[in-house]
This record gives sequence, structure tokens and C-alpha cells, in this order.
Amino acid sequence: MQCSTDNYSRSGRFSATAMALAFVCLLLGLLFGLNQQANACPRPIKVVCSISPLANIVSSIGGAKVQVKYFVPPDADPHSFEPTFSALEDVSQAHLIFLNGDGLDHLAEDCVNNVKASACRVISLSNSIPQQEKNATDPHYFLDPKMAKLYVKAIAQALKEIDPEDAKEFDANANKFCQKLDDLDLRYRSLCQKLPQSRKGLVLYHNSWTYLAARYGFTVVGVVEESGEGEPSARHLAHLIRDARKAGAFAIVAEAEHGSKILNVIKEEARISRVIPTVEDSLSKAPYDTYLGMLEANLKQFASTDMN
Ligand SMILES: [Zn+2]
Repeated sequence: MQCSTDNYSRSGRFSATAMALAFVCLLLGLLFGLNQQANACPRPIKVVCSISPLANIVSSIGGAKVQVKYFVPPDADPHSFEPTFSALEDVSQAHLIFLNGDGLDHLAEDCVNNVKASACRVISLSNSIPQQEKNATDPHYFLDPKMAKLYVKAIAQALKEIDPEDAKEFDANANKFCQKLDDLDLRYRSLCQKLPQSRKGLVLYHNSWTYLAARYGFTVVGVVEESGEGEPSARHLAHLIRDARKAGAFAIVAEAEHGSKILNVIKEEARISRVIPTVEDSLSKAPYDTYLGMLEANLKQFASTDMN
């Protein structure tokens, strides 16, 4: 579950099933690669993204010119999942692949590198974020509306390079998308400014909200998931509870899938008032079924004055 740019980047392993699937897809990839070389500007442009939020952004920028699939199944965790045959097949036939990078989707990255066609370009969108803006532990840049604009621009650029004829359309869509992100940023700013300081101390279950927290004046008191996989240790939890209580943390930010038992223990022991439910790595049911819908719904949760 935990994703750290330091600890996760090379720790992925393929299961025997995935290796076998990868071999079949490698053959498909070789065949498809030959086919791609004969086709300078493919119609539609077949794009595969590692996670569904990125796929939704690419669909918005590429419109009818792209056919977008994603690799990590709906509601699955990009940090620990088994690739399906159809996902590997999609990768083998892709013209363009977008990853997040910096360790978030290292399992997808391993698969992609084994299976993709030789002519297919792979882009890690985290490369569009300036190094000095990264904190070395949290690769979820796309959850911050301002950083997400750099993803949008990198996506439009990649599409323009593969399909220069439609450059104007991609630019127009990207500009429209960036305006929506600016609008969301203003609303986050205005709503979060209204929250008193006493409601701004957060405990994160997953280390994914550090950029958003910093931008809108929240303080991250601690993170439940430790480096590495598995449940947090008793020692880590004890330190976290002590720090959260001392800092007067107001809320725990968690996805529905996160362990409710641990959440309740922290909430009770650290005297935390509320749980902020969020969606982050994979899109889900409405209103979380589009990237912008997900950010909007998360905004409402962060700015909510409810106590539970
Ligand atoms: Zn994550």
C-alpha cells in the first residue's frame, strides 16, 4: 500500500503467471511494433495509462483522437495488483504509454517495460514536476491541482508529437482542462482559508496528500503507512498517536479500503475528531468517476465542517 519514491521504486516482483502473460504479450508486442512502424500517425492513437485518473485526463485532452485504456483495474491499488492478460495485451498494442513514475506505479512500469512494442513511447509524468518541488516520499503529484497542470501540459505535448495535425485541438482541450484546475485551486484556497487553524492538523493513512496539504495550509502530523509493505508496526502506531495527540491533530485522511480497525484505534487514542474519506489512486463510483469529479469530491471532504 505504501508508496515512497525511495523505498518502492525497484521492489516490484512478477508472479509466475504475470511472467507467462508477459511472454505472450512480448510476442504480440513484437508483431504490433512492426505494424506501428509502417503507420506514422495512428488512428486512433492507442494509449495506455497505469492508473485510471491519468487515463481520464488523457481522454479529456485527446478526445476522439485517442483510445485510452488503463492498466490497474478499477478500485485496485497500484502499489499491489496482478496484471490481467487483457491489460498486458493493451500494453503490447499501445502507441503511447503514460506512467506516473517515482515509484507509485512501479509494478505497471515493470510490466510495461517487458511487454510494450519497440516503437511505443513511455512517458513518466512525474518528470514534468520540477525536482525542487518534490519531497522524495510522496509521488502523488496529480492530487494537487497546480501540479496536475504540468501533467496536462506534458500529455498534450506527447499527443502533439505523435499527431501534429491535431495539435490545435489538443492545445485547446489542455487549456480548457487547466482552466478547470485553476478554478478548483481557487475554490480549495477560499474554502480551506475559512477553516480555523485548529482543524488543520492531519494524519494521513496513505502518504498521498502532502502537496495538497502544503498548498492549502494543512499540517501533516504523521503518516499511518510506514515505508515498505504490510501493516504499520505497533511501535510506529504508538509514536504516531503520541505525535498526533501532542499536535492536536483534527482529522485522519483515509480511503474506504483502509483498515477501519487501525483508524478507530488512532482516532480514539489520539482524540481525533473526524475521518476525511477520500479517493486517490483509482477512480471509483460517481462522483469519483472522473479525475475532476474526484478532485471536486475530495475538496468537499477536506473543506467540510462535519464532525464525522
Ligand atoms: Zn498511492
